[in-house]
Amino acid sequence: MAKNRTDSAATRERYDVAIIGAGVIGSATAMALGERGLSVALIDIDLSGRMSSSERNAGGVRATWWQPVNIALSRESIRYYESIRSEIGFRQKGYLILYDGARWAQALRMLPIQRDLDHPIEALTPHEVAARVPEIDRFDGIAGATFSAGDGLINSNLLKAHYREQARAHRVRLFDRAFVHGIEAGPGEARLFLWQAGAPLTDAQVARLLTQDDGGEPAFGRPIEIRADAIAIAAGAWAPNVLRLASLDSPTAAVRRQLCVADSRTVTLENYGMIFDTSGVYFHNDGPHILAGYSPPEEPSAYSFKFDGEDFFNREIWPRMYARASCFERLRFISGWAGLYEMTPDRSGILGQAAPRIFEAHSFSAHGVMQSYAAGQELAELIVSGGFRNPEVRGLGRARFATGDLLYEELHW
Ligand SMILES: Cc1cc2nc3c(=O)[nH]c(=O)nc-3n(C[C@H](O)[C@H](O)[C@H](O)COP(=O)(O)OP(=O)(O)OC[C@H]3O[C@@H](n4cnc5c(N)ncnc54)[C@H](O)[C@@H]3O)c2cc1C
Repeated sequence: MAKNRTDSAATRERYDVAIIGAGVIGSATAMALGERGLSVALIDIDLSGRMSSSERNAGGVRATWWQPVNIALSRESIRYYESIRSEIGFRQKGYLILYDGARWAQALRMLPIQRDLDHPIEALTPHEVAARVPEIDRFDGIAGATFSAGDGLINSNLLKAHYREQARAHRVRLFDRAFVHGIEAGPGEARLFLWQAGAPLTDAQVARLLTQDDGGEPAFGRPIEIRADAIAIAAGAWAPNVLRLASLDSPTAAVRRQLCVADSRTVTLENYGMIFDTSGVYFHNDGPHILAGYSPPEEPSAYSFKFDGEDFFNREIWPRMYARASCFERLRFISGWAGLYEMTPDRSGILGQAAPRIFEAHSFSAHGVMQSYAAGQELAELIVSGGFRNPEVRGLGRARFATGDLLYEELHW
């Protein structure tokens, strides 16, 4: 679907690298390229990120994964988040993961691998769980648990703001209200074709632009043509639409995920980080409230932001939480929202070179916030030097979907 979009009225600008998408991944990549002295354009249809996953996530940060590359990306990112802890609201209160019999044996087998990768993690019996978290008083189906003190919770908006501030300090140019509608990657350089709106766009306009995938959107605003040595696609759940502009595909599936905020009344979880239950429900303290999520396995792939409200809470969340802890009896729904998971078939992100002059980092399958720092650094290194710092990252390239060398991440909800 690559079209010649040349417009004689277009403003023309030139950069070393142009990044499409300014969520946490695009912003981290912009910072990393700026640090390396490159001139960079960071482009988004909505810099405030109203539809973006970076604005609609649960803020969990963990290196407790089963794929070594996921452990490594999170560990490196966590070390960076520790260095700017107060700026990004990083609360390192740990992850408590409760396992059923089916997963517990594998969780135990993974402990030495996780520790080898510098991830501090302990195994707990149900009895030890009761001693650490007295709120949990029902142990049906728990074979064991892990607790990882270095994991925790982050404010992803502050993290994104940090990346952008650093990027600006390195003279990265941010384009807001700018929609990429065409890509041409020739032997000499790459060209991006943008329309930049002169006034703020409504939610409906942003949603329509992001989800249209036939290039048929009528032109609007100011035409801009950007020439660059390389382009980086960091368009999250919309990466398949952007890749299609360059005649490339991606197996990414956009899947709606819903989060609820509940009034905890007499219960406070402020001493704990994230808790994952065997039932798939996860929850953590959120100011005076509790934030809880659950991912129904039957949810179809779609660009849907419909929030099912109290009905979702009463049907999927509250029964699972109450089944684990009787103190949640009086938990009451307050509010919530829906956002998009950007899932790959093996639940690991896509990072690498997609074609000559076209690089990509997207589809982090619900772990993009916690891996964003390392992902940005690795993509920048690939663009600048042609290789990764951590050779494991090579496995995240798109070639794995053709060769079958998948990095299936089983510790995923
Ligand atoms: C409910 C929920 C809970 C989650 N919980 C966690 C969690 O606890 N921890 C964690 O690490 N991750 C979590 N995630 C996943 C995490 O939010 C994502 O992996 C991460 O935000 C992806 O960042 P991104 O920059 O790749 O994509 P996004 O943040 O979606 O950014 C992509 C950007 O690209 C722009 N764009 C797309 N196409 C175009 C175009 N043609 N022109 C211009 N701009 C374009 C969009 O406007 C958007 O701003 C969760 C996600 C959801 C929905």
